[in-house]
Amino acid sequence: MKITPIGIWGGYPNKNEATCAYLIEQDGYRCLLDCGSGVVAAVQNYTELKDIDAVIISHYHADHVADIGVLQHAAMVGMQLKEWDVPLPIYAHDKDEEGFAALSYKGVTEGRAIGAGDTLELGPFQVTFCETDHPVYCLAMRFTNGERTAVFTADTAWKDELVPFAESADLLVAESNLYEKYLGIIQGHMSGSQAGKLASQASAKQLLLTHLPQYGELSEILTEAKKTYSGDVAFAEIGKSYQL
Ligand SMILES: [Zn+2]
Repeated sequence: MKITPIGIWGGYPNKNEATCAYLIEQDGYRCLLDCGSGVVAAVQNYTELKDIDAVIISHYHADHVADIGVLQHAAMVGMQLKEWDVPLPIYAHDKDEEGFAALSYKGVTEGRAIGAGDTLELGPFQVTFCETDHPVYCLAMRFTNGERTAVFTADTAWKDELVPFAESADLLVAESNLYEKYLGIIQGHMSGSQAGKLASQASAKQLLLTHLPQYGELSEILTEAKKTYSGDVAFAEIGKSYQL
């Protein structure tokens, strides 16, 4: 299983970059996790768009879905040129009716509903989902290929249920959007120390911090994560491939 960070920013992208998104690959199968601002441009550094086999969306905030419309245009052009195998499936929850309906577009993309507790067979992966603590319904995801496991928290405040959900992950990709001083002030996100605590309590083997803020001194978030997790921890690095 190969995991490539496409973007690492929460809320909006830094200049020339993308919001939080990941490419998850194995045996030529490619799954794009989230499709916010800048993702369609950035993901082409690693794959042709037509070679993406599936998209999974954690929730309908703009920093996770903003580029769905342009991805649909790309799929439509690809279909007209007969270069793209359509429809492209886009998996997401359907608790936001309008958001879910927009995932299906002119036969080139097709929204498919997922929810907490579901098990999705997706190419070489089995994907399970856990509802997070966020202002809108949002799903954390656990990818396994039978041997290795990667867990993505998506957007969430601390939630006890995420500990068993992330149990023994080879790689935990945890949001850490908050500086410690904003805990209790900004809702729906974790701090570096909470991301580290989650990795520790779940006995995750490696921790990547993602969905980062564009303000403040980022190194503080990593420092806090290291206080609560003694394992291998770093900011997710755009374009680096993490091989599990
Ligand atoms: Zn969000």
